[in-house]
Amino acid sequence: MNVRSSSPYLLPALVLSLGACHRAATTRYEVGTGAPVVTAVMAPAGVSPRAMQVYREAIVVDTHDDMPTKMLEDGYVPDVLHPAGFSSPTQGHTDLPRLLSSGITAEFLSAWVDAPFARTTPDGSFARAVQYTDSIHAFVARHPDRLIFATTAADVVRAKREGKVAVFIGVEGGHAIEGSLDKLRELHRRGARYLTLTWNNGNAWAGSSIGVGGTRTGGLTDFGKDVVREMNRLGMFVDLSHVSDSTFWDAVHTSTLPVIASHSSARALNDHPRNLSDEQLRAVAASGGVVNVNFFSRFLDPKYRLAIEAMEKQLASDRSRLAATGVSAAIVDSGVARRRAALTAQLPVTPLSVLIDHFDHIAKVAGVDHVGIGSDFDGVSALPHDMADVTDLPRIAQALLDRGYSEPDVKKILGGNMVRVMGQVLK
Ligand SMILES: [Zn+2]
Repeated sequence: MNVRSSSPYLLPALVLSLGACHRAATTRYEVGTGAPVVTAVMAPAGVSPRAMQVYREAIVVDTHDDMPTKMLEDGYVPDVLHPAGFSSPTQGHTDLPRLLSSGITAEFLSAWVDAPFARTTPDGSFARAVQYTDSIHAFVARHPDRLIFATTAADVVRAKREGKVAVFIGVEGGHAIEGSLDKLRELHRRGARYLTLTWNNGNAWAGSSIGVGGTRTGGLTDFGKDVVREMNRLGMFVDLSHVSDSTFWDAVHTSTLPVIASHSSARALNDHPRNLSDEQLRAVAASGGVVNVNFFSRFLDPKYRLAIEAMEKQLASDRSRLAATGVSAAIVDSGVARRRAALTAQLPVTPLSVLIDHFDHIAKVAGVDHVGIGSDFDGVSALPHDMADVTDLPRIAQALLDRGYSEPDVKKILGGNMVRVMGQVLK
């Protein structure tokens, strides 16, 4: 037994794993060389033994998780168990104990570069991305008996065989390369295996779907196309989550390898610019790639989206009314924060079925070989009911089986599709 496996952080997970869980029918995928903590994947309430068996046999891949942002910005400690949640720095959707007890095989941790880093002089974007990659490497290095730093499909297969979790790095925000192919190559050398061409901010060579702060929303420049070609050459996913429609099409037409969307849902079900149209879903499929469904209620559920948009309007008007009374900025801020908390509590909760509708829609439009999981855990303020954190992932297996998906197709959606494209793209 490794010294770490007797450290206190494993105890809460041990207690959880001994709770209401179904033991794996086979020991084939059981984790462990002497550590009982993760010998069985927990079954959430209501998930049948059959669904758990399908889930346990599957390679489960999630292509977007923002836990590193909580680590860097909130001092979140990923090594210990936290309660599920997002509203405080001590709550989260993922941590080591829950990654292990969730039975996930591979998690892409996001190295997210916030928009203001591109506005500092000199540009702070690349340094910020490096800070993230360093902290993800350090997390994996602390747990060599539990985690594998992954860059290929073979690493994922090995993680499954050894009962470990494969940790990938995905860089979020094309401004991270500061307009330099050398910096792109350096991020690849540090382990990054995808780059979203933009975040909510466009950059000098790619347009974003949101164009925050008045940044570009157009297509790829000639240099942007060079970035896509270099990513193809390096063996790195061209990730089209966050990009504008014109950048999407330019990238699809430039890439000679399958493209992915690491965390985007279906626009036909909820008309939000972060989601992909049916035409775009088909284009990702035609490239051979995968659209990984984002779990954020705002992207999934029109009811939630309209309610939160109305809430934001209300808060903006509250703010100006308060400010007009001449009170201090601090009083305005605290008044708005109290109002926000009260209104947030009244937002509708998105049913799990709405999340499953997106998987179903993408499977029907793009094909069952082109859909996967891109949770956005630890990066979003609202998740569907019964999807409180990473340990609820088996519910997806249950819900897809309930809708008549075959066991092989459920396994493709859970991660088999992503492993296929990893084999084609990552070197
Ligand atoms: Zn994102």
